[in-house]
Amino acid sequence: MIRSYREAGISDDVYRYCEHILEHLKERFGEIDRIAEFNQLKVVRAMQENKASEACLLGTTGYGYNDIGRDTLEKVYASCFRTEDALVRPQITCGTHALQLALMSNLRPGDELLSPVGKPYDTLEEVIGIRDSVGSLKEYGISYRQVDLKKDGSFDYEGIKKAINERTKIVTIQRSKGYQTRPTLSVERIGELIAFVKKIKPEVICMVDNCYGEFVETKEPSEVGADMIVGSLIKNPGGGLAPIGGYIAGTKKCVENAAFRLTSPGLGKEVGASLGILSQFYQGFFMAPTVTANALKGAIFAANIYERLGFAVVPDAKETRHDIIQAVTFGKPEGVIAFCRGIQAAAPIDSYLMPEPWDMPGYDAPVIMAAGAFVSGSSIELSADGPIKPPYAVYFQGGLTWQHAKFGIMMTLQSLVKEGIVDAKRIQVS
Ligand SMILES: *Cc1c(COP(=O)(O)O)cnc(C)c1O
Repeated sequence: MIRSYREAGISDDVYRYCEHILEHLKERFGEIDRIAEFNQLKVVRAMQENKASEACLLGTTGYGYNDIGRDTLEKVYASCFRTEDALVRPQITCGTHALQLALMSNLRPGDELLSPVGKPYDTLEEVIGIRDSVGSLKEYGISYRQVDLKKDGSFDYEGIKKAINERTKIVTIQRSKGYQTRPTLSVERIGELIAFVKKIKPEVICMVDNCYGEFVETKEPSEVGADMIVGSLIKNPGGGLAPIGGYIAGTKKCVENAAFRLTSPGLGKEVGASLGILSQFYQGFFMAPTVTANALKGAIFAANIYERLGFAVVPDAKETRHDIIQAVTFGKPEGVIAFCRGIQAAAPIDSYLMPEPWDMPGYDAPVIMAAGAFVSGSSIELSADGPIKPPYAVYFQGGLTWQHAKFGIMMTLQSLVKEGIVDAKRIQVS
């Protein structure tokens, strides 16, 4: 083995250090495998209960009337996530689109949206109109209110109670921390928050941005009271196989509203040809629990490596996980760059490219990104990015197989040692 790694560019010292770290992770990995096992059953049972058939894997063209594969897949998602209905479509172009669709279709002029967990994901700022933007909720006369988490990460229940008023129609809860340093919310905590909100205003719609969270735990937020959960198919639930798509799973009413807006009033879920994409959607959903587990193992492996080397990691080496994102803070730009170059060098596609920081639209500092993915931009595949600004943290996620995630993280360490950011002496195992 050590020779294969040597040929792949991993020094014996890096190999031995990583193996040493791994010895202590057996129990953690065992727990992750058990969650994947539970979720695998959930997915396969959902397919069986809804009689997924060979015919379901074929697609329709044109209007897509009577698309049995599409309609059955939506039932499969609804069964698996324990919701009344679901919308799972290639016409939903990404996670942001799915979230804006869920919001736009269930809000009306004069309504108010509340985020009780602080600032939402960057791209939602323009959807909501926090940053002025054409077509935002704000342009349609929908207002927004936000209650930040308290300093210790807990919910500001008093502030939330005050913020809920007669116009509050949707409460949006982001499960993953995204690119913030707050902790990711567990499904249990989301349940507590929803129960609190519903006690004050029972008819309010609770929506959860479920991006990066699917299959990390044995329950989804829809099992603890969420009226809608929303996510992207080029993250966890697509299992690395879906090349596009998003989903909204929830109450019949919420999903119906979303369908009438995605297609047209009067048409709703009845149209929307699936073309040839359904077999990837089914197979990806089938693979999703194990793919998510592989990504989680990679995240935990990296947290343990870099925490031992003295870098700040969020979540830390021992914490339980509620999403697949791992942040490592290097404190200097060279660390972020070397890390991303390591991930790129380990990729199956475009491994020979050298990522460079660039001024990406919508960001206030140059950003470096590493992605050598089969599906462009897929972040369930091994990928990393970091803004070149203090505290110089890199965010990485994904890994379709644990073995590849492991190789990628070894490459990051190799790259950091080569650049002298990690002292070669520190990784020697006696
Ligand atoms: C990725 C993500 C989004 C947006 O998804 P895109 O597919 O990038 O548009 C929204 N919220 C969270 C928490 C995410 O991780």
